[in-house]
Amino acid sequence: MPADGFVSDFADARDRFRAAAAALGWRLENHAVGGMGPRGETLTIDAALSPGDPAMPVLVVSSGVHGVEGIFGSAVQARLLETWRDGGAPDVRVVFIHAINPYGFAWRRRTDADNVDVNRNFLLPDEPYAGSPASYAELDGLLNPRRPPARWDGFRARAVMAIARHGMPALRRAVATGQYDFPRGLFFGGSRPSAPHEILAEQLPVWTHGAPAVVHLDLHTGLGEHGACHLLVDFPVDDALAAAFTRWLGPDALSAANARAAGYHARGGFGRWCVAQQLAPTYVFAYAEFGTYGPLTVLDRLRKENQAYHWAEPDAACTIQAKRRLVDAFCPPSTRWRSDTLAYAVELVSSTAARLSRG
Ligand SMILES: [Zn+2]
Repeated sequence: MPADGFVSDFADARDRFRAAAAALGWRLENHAVGGMGPRGETLTIDAALSPGDPAMPVLVVSSGVHGVEGIFGSAVQARLLETWRDGGAPDVRVVFIHAINPYGFAWRRRTDADNVDVNRNFLLPDEPYAGSPASYAELDGLLNPRRPPARWDGFRARAVMAIARHGMPALRRAVATGQYDFPRGLFFGGSRPSAPHEILAEQLPVWTHGAPAVVHLDLHTGLGEHGACHLLVDFPVDDALAAAFTRWLGPDALSAANARAAGYHARGGFGRWCVAQQLAPTYVFAYAEFGTYGPLTVLDRLRKENQAYHWAEPDAACTIQAKRRLVDAFCPPSTRWRSDTLAYAVELVSSTAARLSRG
């Protein structure tokens, strides 16, 4: 394993996760989503469950909803499991969900095998898989060119012009809300529940069964200032949930999370869906987002990888480069970024577990 604790190959990262959980005596499950990875490996969502009284509160830590972002999330989960082997495992039930979108992790995409952004796929039963923000169609040509990527294609200048014309909030809304009409486009939410969606619908109630309270941290990268961590929510928070949020995630966590989320409302978000399942009397969910680069840089890398995926050969030089740059965008190679974010995330999970164990 690399010295910095980041394993970028999916099968290797999953082996490490399984070994670390087994060494702690935790129960392991895996659920195949279909398809294979680049080394012929079966693609699975893995769960590691600590032993413990079913009446204890549950801490859920999930990774890889956005495929390639799982490199970071998996590093956090494995580091925690390895640390707890020497003692200090929290006094709550713990559920680690590894690589919710294993296809994207293995093949270095944000999306699944059907180009679906899994974090836009968790629509509730009465919500249709249809529709797009009005401005998405206008931006389709800019976001999703129907040709292989070129290194210099004027994206940044055109994006700045689009921001000038529509305003940053409108642009952010157009790209981040999610869309259900452009199957090859960015932020496509799919046309039906994805395999990860169906597996979690079946397993999450089992994994959290009987818990009086659940705190769920879902690890992401790519949003926010370089190396900073922000908690985000994408669902309405009533007074009771606000109190639980403050109690277990810290006094300022909710106001910051709400303020950050106020700019747009994504459709089909995993967090809103988890809370809507009513799996426990109290279910607190937060996206833990770790910043990498500015929004236009991240968007440009997503866009080029998506172009390469649809319009170039898998082994073309432009595809290989687009994938490498996508990995860097969501898991920067900087030693400083890696050590700081890993340490921060480990501390976030540990302190949340400690607060939860105190009730
Ligand atoms: Zn993400």
